[in-house]
Amino acid sequence: MHPFYSAAELRFRDELRDFFRREIPERIRAKVSAGQPLEKADLVESQRILNAHGLAVPHWPKEWGGRDWTPVQRAIFTEELQRTAVPLPLQFNCYMVGPVIAAFGSQAQKERFLPRAANLDDWWCQGFSEPDAGSDLASLKTKAVRTADGYLVSGQKIWTTYAQYADWIFCLVRTDPAAKKQAGISFLLIDMASPGVTVRPIITMDGRHEVNEVFLDNVLVPFENLVGEENKGWDYAKYLLANERAGIARIGLSKERIARVRRLARQTRAGDRPLWDLETFRARVLQVEVELKALEFTQMRVLAESDHGSHAPNPMSSILKLKGSQLQQAASELMMEVAGAEGFSPASADYETVSSAVAFETYLNFRKVSIYGGSNEIQRNIIAKTILNL
Ligand SMILES: Cc1cc2nc3c(=O)[nH]c(=O)nc-3n(C[C@H](O)[C@H](O)[C@H](O)COP(=O)(O)OP(=O)(O)OC[C@H]3O[C@@H](n4cnc5c(N)ncnc54)[C@H](O)[C@@H]3O)c2cc1C
Repeated sequence: MHPFYSAAELRFRDELRDFFRREIPERIRAKVSAGQPLEKADLVESQRILNAHGLAVPHWPKEWGGRDWTPVQRAIFTEELQRTAVPLPLQFNCYMVGPVIAAFGSQAQKERFLPRAANLDDWWCQGFSEPDAGSDLASLKTKAVRTADGYLVSGQKIWTTYAQYADWIFCLVRTDPAAKKQAGISFLLIDMASPGVTVRPIITMDGRHEVNEVFLDNVLVPFENLVGEENKGWDYAKYLLANERAGIARIGLSKERIARVRRLARQTRAGDRPLWDLETFRARVLQVEVELKALEFTQMRVLAESDHGSHAPNPMSSILKLKGSQLQQAASELMMEVAGAEGFSPASADYETVSSAVAFETYLNFRKVSIYGGSNEIQRNIIAKTILNL
């Protein structure tokens, strides 16, 4: 007997697992598994295969490509993607702007943007954070002023992931400077090709280019690109952030990484014996595995309680984000130690090896997971306030 899944759910899981292994090219999955950065073309190819089989946006409303799955089926889907090292459908399209447009956008916006977002014909990025507005997002200053032709937007966004690839950016902008912080914010869709948009790369300590600064200098945005009502953007942002945090636990990914650590630690020598024979190392791997199992139980509890129709953010997603990010970092640390012990050759094409350079880059890269999507300190504040009532 499986602790969570019925026989039908296990069949569903096995079918997905087979499908992902068969249909998503091995060369893309090997990169994910090794923690190597993906090219834009890899992500587009993988998402289009999923979309062609109705698997890019199964959590969306049915008329826009959703599958009407149960919360448990959705969890199985995400976990299997991660365990088979398939890149997740682009978060910005599928888990952020897509659900917001589906829930709060106009019919014209749905028709124009949703099918293209699902197929990654449009690449979206997220323009929320600013140099002086991260944790305290509501103090954002980018302003949108009404003119006869549309909104004139000016300001600066920062940490904008993959803006260098993006066709569109969804932004929080201030439309009413006189209102209380949260009350004067709107949610705008901006074409990255508009005059006045400039993208400047930020190279992070792992040497990679994932994030950017985006400058908006008197960018004219048609009124039809406002989502929902003017000055109600904060509500839509809260809905989006709760979705973002729920997806961020990445339990399947950590499981895949830990399974790999186990396999590699058996092949790796530490002195005169396999690394896996070192009790202290083994204990740390087992500790992470136990905590992953506990997180999985928590996630299943959250799913069981989740209300399908509700647009309210679930504060429990903060627990998933907090613990999930800690475990992702623990897994990346263990992987770096395995790679360091052996000094694996970066030239090896063997799927089961890991280069110490890539493991180190991934370790550095994963420092981000306790910052983005709302830092872990902020998640602790949310948990203290809304769950523990402190
Ligand atoms: C790799 C990466 C990708 C990102 N991608 C995007 C993106 O695509 N789009 C986007 O809009 N944003 C993105 N972000 C931005 C991210 O959401 C912010 O970095 C995050 O919200 C924290 O804001 P900040 O960096 O301004 O830090 P600050 O808010 O200045 O916080 C600095 C430190 O103080 C702590 N702190 C702040 N306030 C409190 C408090 N009240 N209580 C306790 N501790 C506190 C924080 O935890 C943190 O440790 C990304 C960030 C990273 C690292």
